[in-house]
Amino acid sequence: MIPLIALQEDTPDWQKQLARAITDPNELFAHLRLDPNAWPETLAAGHSFKLKVTHSYLHRIEPGNPKDPLLLQVLPQGAELAPQPPEYDTDPVGDIDAMPHPGIVHKYRGRILLIATGSCAIHCRYCFRRHFPYASAHPARHHWQTTIDYLQAHPDIDEVILSGGDPLVLSDAKLGELIARLQSLPQLRRLRLHSRLPIVLPDRITPQLLALLSQTRLRCILVVHCNHANEIDDAVREALLRLHAAGVLLLNQSVLLKHINDQVDSLAALSLKLFDAQVQPYYLHLLDRVSGAAHFAVSPDRARTLQTALSGRLPGYLLPRFVYEVAGGTAKTPL
Ligand code: SF4
Repeated sequence: MIPLIALQEDTPDWQKQLARAITDPNELFAHLRLDPNAWPETLAAGHSFKLKVTHSYLHRIEPGNPKDPLLLQVLPQGAELAPQPPEYDTDPVGDIDAMPHPGIVHKYRGRILLIATGSCAIHCRYCFRRHFPYASAHPARHHWQTTIDYLQAHPDIDEVILSGGDPLVLSDAKLGELIARLQSLPQLRRLRLHSRLPIVLPDRITPQLLALLSQTRLRCILVVHCNHANEIDDAVREALLRLHAAGVLLLNQSVLLKHINDQVDSLAALSLKLFDAQVQPYYLHLLDRVSGAAHFAVSPDRARTLQTALSGRLPGYLLPRFVYEVAGGTAKTPL
């Protein structure tokens, strides 16, 4: 699933960091001074969706703390192997049925989502695409031509969303080629990227990337994915400020996760810290019911309680919209 990156002398530093991401649980345990015997099922749980975490993210996890909210997002655990409730499956938001061509997801009016790559810099255990068939659903195989043809056949589409995987895993050359193809279509007005890289690998925000995003004629929106205030350290904040200074509109989407951010203090701290980094809280998703992630679910009743408490704590512009996605729906559903 993860392409090998040939490391040359001139390989950008962020790509070297990406290649050095930790995939061995014992290395993770050693770094964090945790006892591997406390997690006997980690190896098995990470078999089909393996552990992956950048050193940058790792450094924000508190050593010796088995309940660290960042650790819990990346550590494969035995609960992933437990029998799942019947409503949990491998394609919880209906991506497969919404693909007119491999890798082109067309659910909502006026916009399509491209699976630009199958790779990520980190593997989030609750990921709704953890079972996604990336090998066969990948429009880049055809040099984006299928995507261009599809857009030309649908002139009402004025926004493309680059997703994945994580689109910022693509090299600047590949990303630049794709953006050039897209901006040549007069119908397109906005380019949105859904990426966790500014959070988990802030060195990805290079001057070259900023030039790409600021020089396109398309209005650029970057939706980052951050679930906890501890994920935003100085390097992340500075990367986000660089993006903002380059004219990129920054939004954040989070997932409401049990034992990670399901407290009003935690959600309020996240919104405040995002705003300090020029990021607008956008969506707080209830967990998509993907097989292997049921232990992260927060009940709708608990979510409503948090929503009420948060609205009593923060000004309206810092409140994310609490939503969930229904497969086959034409928009996100407000809680
Ligand atoms: S970065 Fe996004 S796509 Fe990748 S594993 Fe995490 S949630 Fe899934």
